[in-house]
Amino acid sequence: MKVYFDNAATTAIDQDVFEAMKPYMLEHFGNPSSIHSHGRQVRTAIERSRKKVADLLNAAPAEIFFTSGGTEADNTAIRCTVSEKGIKHIVTSKVEHHAVLHTVQSLEKRGIKVSYVDLNDKGQVDLNHLESLVKNNPDTLVTLMHANNEIGNLLDLNKVGDMCEEYGACFHSDTVQSMAHYKHDMPNLKLDFAVGSAHKFHGPKGIGFLYINHKNKIHPFIHGGAQERNMRGGTENVYGIVGLAKAMEIAYADMDAHRKHIEGLKIRMIEKLKANIDGVQFNGVSDDLDNSLYTVLSACLPPNDDNDMLLFNLDIAGISASGGSACSSGSSIGSHVLAELNRDQNRGAIRFSFSKYNTLEEVDYAVEKLSELYQPETTSA
Ligand code: PLP
Repeated sequence: MKVYFDNAATTAIDQDVFEAMKPYMLEHFGNPSSIHSHGRQVRTAIERSRKKVADLLNAAPAEIFFTSGGTEADNTAIRCTVSEKGIKHIVTSKVEHHAVLHTVQSLEKRGIKVSYVDLNDKGQVDLNHLESLVKNNPDTLVTLMHANNEIGNLLDLNKVGDMCEEYGACFHSDTVQSMAHYKHDMPNLKLDFAVGSAHKFHGPKGIGFLYINHKNKIHPFIHGGAQERNMRGGTENVYGIVGLAKAMEIAYADMDAHRKHIEGLKIRMIEKLKANIDGVQFNGVSDDLDNSLYTVLSACLPPNDDNDMLLFNLDIAGISASGGSACSSGSSIGSHVLAELNRDQNRGAIRFSFSKYNTLEEVDYAVEKLSELYQPETTSA
């Protein structure tokens, strides 16, 4: 059996998304900047896609800018806000994705003051500390992710948005993991910037978008032609854009049913792990359904001599999961997110992340294989 439980890293493309993209690979190849009919036809597809995305977010098409993905959108929002809006202070957390964390660190090296908001031992943001940081520092940009990609913790965007509004701070949220999994109602969120990445919701890789609230005017991060209304130079990834909009449309159309299905998988996984592996725990609040992303479950496994081989052993059994963020794989450095939690470093960590294509049988199979690795005789403590 082959099981893919690494959907926070990337998802399989939906067949209908691929079908929607195909004509823009094969037939409609014009450059959208060309004014002849070949170009105009493609331009129309881009603007239709922009409107679709905007409508789903209750945003205006003028607030949506297509990018090469979440990383570029995060970089654009943070770097351009800092350089153009007189930002002197950034508030972020140590559990952000590197798309945010490394961007902020590079600005820190150039003299911008950075504060890391306190987290509790489950990795949740201390809102009182956040308030004191925002209140006592004018010209602040707050960049905090909505849903953590490794442990699934959710941030209350409404509370942080209200706080930022009260003290006049800019608010960017890395919404890559929650976009098209939750309904973001932009007019009510008080976000200045949000981001999406199509490959996290059954769309193609290498395409994403930046939502810029109309109250903000920033200049491009990538300079070049006049594409994206002068906000992002470079010939548009047309079939990517069409695929992103289609994937988002499908995600919204079936969101409640998919959420119910995926939550069912997560609940089953929690129950089965507890029943089969003595002493299993969960990282962050990922077993708390109300406060965590429904697609992610991060298990904290008992100390075991073979914990270093955990992912390898599961891989041999046909199960693809992750030990932390796939974006760090290949690096010998452990997860910077897990390092911030109060957890026993001898314990193993494994992230299962689910999609609409997973089944209960796959959950049962993965728990069966995992529990074989944690039989009492192989457990060292
Ligand atoms: N932010 C988060 C929370 C992510 O999980 C990821 C991807 O893993 C990114 C940003 C980067 O997105 P992209 O792969 O589209 O550059």
